[in-house]
Amino acid sequence: MSDVLMPTYARAELAFERGEGPYLYTAGGRRYLDFAAGIAVNALGHSHPHLVETLQAQAGKLWHVSNLYTIPEGERLAERLAANSFAERVFFCNSGAEAVEGALKIARRYHYAAGHPEKTRVISCSGAFHGRTLTTLSAAANPKYLEGFGPASEGFDNVAFGNMNELRAAITPETAAILVEPIQGEGGIRAADLEYLRALRAVCDEFDLLLIFDEIQCGMGRSGRLFAHQWAGIAPDVMALAKGLGSGFPIGAILATAEAASAMKPGTHGSTFGGNPLAMAVANAVLDVMLEDGFLPEVERVARLLRDKLNELAGRYPQVLAGVRGSGLMMGLVCVVPNTEVIAKLRDEGLLTVGAAENVIRLLPPLIIEESHVDEAVEAIERACATWAKAA
Ligand SMILES: *Cc1c(COP(=O)(O)O)cnc(C)c1O
Repeated sequence: MSDVLMPTYARAELAFERGEGPYLYTAGGRRYLDFAAGIAVNALGHSHPHLVETLQAQAGKLWHVSNLYTIPEGERLAERLAANSFAERVFFCNSGAEAVEGALKIARRYHYAAGHPEKTRVISCSGAFHGRTLTTLSAAANPKYLEGFGPASEGFDNVAFGNMNELRAAITPETAAILVEPIQGEGGIRAADLEYLRALRAVCDEFDLLLIFDEIQCGMGRSGRLFAHQWAGIAPDVMALAKGLGSGFPIGAILATAEAASAMKPGTHGSTFGGNPLAMAVANAVLDVMLEDGFLPEVERVARLLRDKLNELAGRYPQVLAGVRGSGLMMGLVCVVPNTEVIAKLRDEGLLTVGAAENVIRLLPPLIIEESHVDEAVEAIERACATWAKAA
């Protein structure tokens, strides 16, 4: 491996040459079933014909013009995201962290313009992950990621995820917003109770706080609904999206109500690359597929099959797996043995997965998987479990 790349990642000695649907292929021709999907990014799998065709057609016309001009593909994408969510205003950027940062700026500016410049603090949750910029790291307050990076950004109060009493106690006259992942990804596939999400909505209404959901990982169909909070029947004021929205093309988005975004006037925020025609064309193509009748119900159906089979496996191999959690195709296998060892073993068996906190393995397959892929994954997991069962 090249030592020129900054060694910030613990990379596997594994490179791929091409992908097709839920499969990745090495230059040597070895095939892997990809239940990592670029960490919940390749929502429609690899080389999806509609996405490839769209990107190629757009590449031949126009890549980038900047936000000095109108971008019709972006207007169309914003309209479609709004039509399928709570949102009335959309801002495009390029990554998840950038979307969360923008959401935080929206919340502070909202209260500033409403005559409450003192309302700047944001309540966030333990186990959260919101990105790697200094401010999103400060929001998540994970000491491991902040160590050695100087003073954290001011203005965050971290409370236990799911604990409403602790959260209410943290609200002060300076509180501007609450920032929560409806399903924590990096934190170990921890889904908030739907009651907790409803209580967050109620407390935000009571104290005039903005509710910000980070659906960067759990959004865009991953939970079986287009957005995970929709299971709770409530809506946030602001939502950050990225990952699956471009299915592999870098893009982020901030969705907001007209009220929450009312203070975002010309000059208040920007992003040079944000919303460029290439990204807009691809994300529109992603929506073409995800909004088709039957797409999300099929995600749910396949997810249920996978969950049932994994639960059954966990029951048979309690010395390896402690349980299954998550929603839709955002599933976590809680391990008894070290998750890193199971992930390595699964890779040997031709199945790609992702680690998470709490000794969890994330299963984040492309949303286009079929029953045969479920069976193939479960068989690989069973083979891995059997090696530990034998050793025990
Ligand atoms: C991945 C992720 C982010 C950060 O996204 P980047 O594109 O890496 O900046 C933020 N929040 C959640 C929930 C994520 O899963």
